[in-house]
Amino acid sequence: MKKILVAGGAGYIGSVTTEMLCDQGYKVTVVDNLERGFRSSLDPRAEFIQGDLRNRQEMFDILSEVKPQAVIHFAAYIEVGESMTVPLAFFENNVSGSLNLVEAMLAAGCKKLIFSSTCATYGTPDKIPMDESLPQHPESAYGESKLICEKMFTWAQKIHGLEPVFLRYFNASGATEERGESHNPETHLIPLVLQVAQGKRDKIFLFGDDYLTPDGTCIRDYIHVKDLAQAHILALKEGISGAFNLGNGKGFSVKEVVETARKVTGHPIPAEVKERRPGDPDQLISKSDKAMEVLGWNPQYTELEDIIQSAWKWHQKYPEGYPE
Ligand code: UDP
Repeated sequence: MKKILVAGGAGYIGSVTTEMLCDQGYKVTVVDNLERGFRSSLDPRAEFIQGDLRNRQEMFDILSEVKPQAVIHFAAYIEVGESMTVPLAFFENNVSGSLNLVEAMLAAGCKKLIFSSTCATYGTPDKIPMDESLPQHPESAYGESKLICEKMFTWAQKIHGLEPVFLRYFNASGATEERGESHNPETHLIPLVLQVAQGKRDKIFLFGDDYLTPDGTCIRDYIHVKDLAQAHILALKEGISGAFNLGNGKGFSVKEVVETARKVTGHPIPAEVKERRPGDPDQLISKSDKAMEVLGWNPQYTELEDIIQSAWKWHQKYPEGYPE
């Protein structure tokens, strides 16, 4: 049985990946500082160690004790907007945390690293759909922090034999029966729209309707969190390294997301146009052929309606989100 360490396993994508690793017979240890993650999202089948990647000694102790065969690393700050107000906190947590983790891995003889990266490392793309060969010019401190990690890991690959895989996510969404998207404060479109349907908010604000898209709102590629999680498990296979874009290859505008949520929930979901949010490119759509060919990745949730339906089911089951 393969032993996997999941850093950030109490977060949205990390908790779902942990659940699926356990389902598929892996032995999992989660490390999370619970600063942004939720204790109750932890899979009880996984061992849990509360630890902070910024604490170098702690990372060395944990890695030498657990001795995993691979590390899947989700632990990071993720809000683009926040990164533009406190950029250095992002470099401290995302970059120096990752540095500690990878040094501790190498000291413990662990080479395989699956890393949560992002389409935000590309910035505004000059080509749609986006493949992995696009130049990376991040437009936020968040995107930059992830790109620095990719570069750092690539040097560790060249010199120390690290085996890194960079999974560049598009818009993670949807839920499993027990685990869904919950952030505090919430800033993501789908959970916010569903909070309106739950009566927790009066309306959804559409951040700009003057983008260069058919209805003027931004187009994003929404990918189900279970499909994303499965890509991490496929990437554990020996011999896999390099970067993979993970999306559905289909774009939906903010207005289309709201309209689909109206259909799924039966709620009118009032919407009001507000000014643009800084740093939002018009369109981000993935070309994920490489993941399909090399990883054998085959996303199951290709319809936005099914993705929103799964999120809605979770929101109805857990109307207050995670208790702790
Ligand atoms: N968005 C919006 N209203 C909101 C939250 C988000 O119009 O209350 C838009 C946002 O500007 C972006 C899209 O919805 O174009 C997806 O945003 P989200 O924050 O969910 O994900 P991101 O694309 O930033 O990763």
